Amino acid sequence: MPVTSEIKPSVAIAGGGLIGRLLAWRLSLQQFDVTLYEAGDLSTPGGACWAAAGMISPLSELVHSEAEIYRLGVQSLALWPSWAEQLEQQSGRQVQFRHAGSLLVAHAQDKSELLQFQRELQGKLNDDISAHVQALDGEQLRQLEPALENFEQGLYLRDEGDINNRRLLPVLLSVLRQQDVALRERTPVSCSGYQVEHQEGRVRFDCVIDCRGLGAQQQIQGLRGVRGEVLVVQTREVELQRPVRLLHPRYKLYAVPRPDGRTVIGATEIESEDMSPISVRSTMELSSALYSLHPAFAEARIVETRVHCRPATMDNMPYIHSEPGLVRVNGLHRHGYLLAPALAEKVEKLVTKQVLQVA
Ligand SMILES: Cc1cc2nc3c(=O)[nH]c(=O)nc-3n(C[C@H](O)[C@H](O)[C@H](O)COP(=O)(O)OP(=O)(O)OC[C@H]3O[C@@H](n4cnc5c(N)ncnc54)[C@H](O)[C@@H]3O)c2cc1C
Repeated sequence: MPVTSEIKPSVAIAGGGLIGRLLAWRLSLQQFDVTLYEAGDLSTPGGACWAAAGMISPLSELVHSEAEIYRLGVQSLALWPSWAEQLEQQSGRQVQFRHAGSLLVAHAQDKSELLQFQRELQGKLNDDISAHVQALDGEQLRQLEPALENFEQGLYLRDEGDINNRRLLPVLLSVLRQQDVALRERTPVSCSGYQVEHQEGRVRFDCVIDCRGLGAQQQIQGLRGVRGEVLVVQTREVELQRPVRLLHPRYKLYAVPRPDGRTVIGATEIESEDMSPISVRSTMELSSALYSLHPAFAEARIVETRVHCRPATMDNMPYIHSEPGLVRVNGLHRHGYLLAPALAEKVEKLVTKQVLQVA
């Protein structure tokens, strides 16, 4: 709902990670006067958003999550194409949103994992899953993904996508600059109704949105970090067209292809808030699972490792809380890219309602 009065209502957003940037973009498009506060540098994001793989996988995630995550994910997947296009038009740069589905594969000895996945999906969707999941034999698999020559069965989830977060986040920043969002970097803040507080004092706004991820731990009871580790490898020998997940009883893995022969490999999920570098064990487990996906990965170079903690609530569900002058959005856990557009729309509505009531 666009705001029409001549004096723009002022909104402060605390946290320039994924949801903070998206909200700053959406709200400044609607004539809000937006100030974005970020504890670190906006050009090298310090949040979980920078470590992520950028998969938008409502079906793959449904097996481990509540039906609500799936519902919000489907809603977001419907929004991403037009949001990505709009961002590309505004910035003249690509965000590389890809709607090419994803593939699940398992080695012959683990093929029961694929069956189990289908059963679990069937149970959760309570519906005929054939519209969502296509079982593939080896030949069909190689038609879609020629590099997967070692596999004789797989599942194709056509309603999944991914976005290159290392493109999206800088593009969002450039669009915020174009839209005259006031950017306050290296400014850690605390938030309460109608005001943010930083080292130099308190500032009043018509509404404050708290998007600080793990930075909001003291205000959101039970918010915890879940450590995730990722490898980025580079090789010209293996070319994937879409995200691929390897189902394995012990070493699960996803591989997300990115430009320049890079592939993002992840991710561990460890109940710990330790943000120290990737462990030898995780490196070995991810690397050996990767090698079993395609032996040519053995000669790939590890060009980057990433570690961050996902902001998660006790029930792993997203958290939106609204009180006068303050909206908090958090707990995006392993689903930030999957859920962000749907959650951003919810928050936009809450903020607009609050501000219109005040006016
Ligand atoms: C290894 C890994 C892989 C992932 N892969 C995927 C994936 O494939 N698909 C998917 O959907 N999700 C994925 N995720 C999850 C996703 O990254 C998160 O859900 C998402 O980044 C959460 O967004 P956010 O904006 O809430 O928090 P963040 O991205 O963490 O951003 C919070 C921001 O707030 C800032 N901040 C903190 N404290 C303050 C303060 N006091 N004042 C001002 N600013 C502050 C931080 O510096 C940061 O910039 C992954 C996460 C990890 C760690």
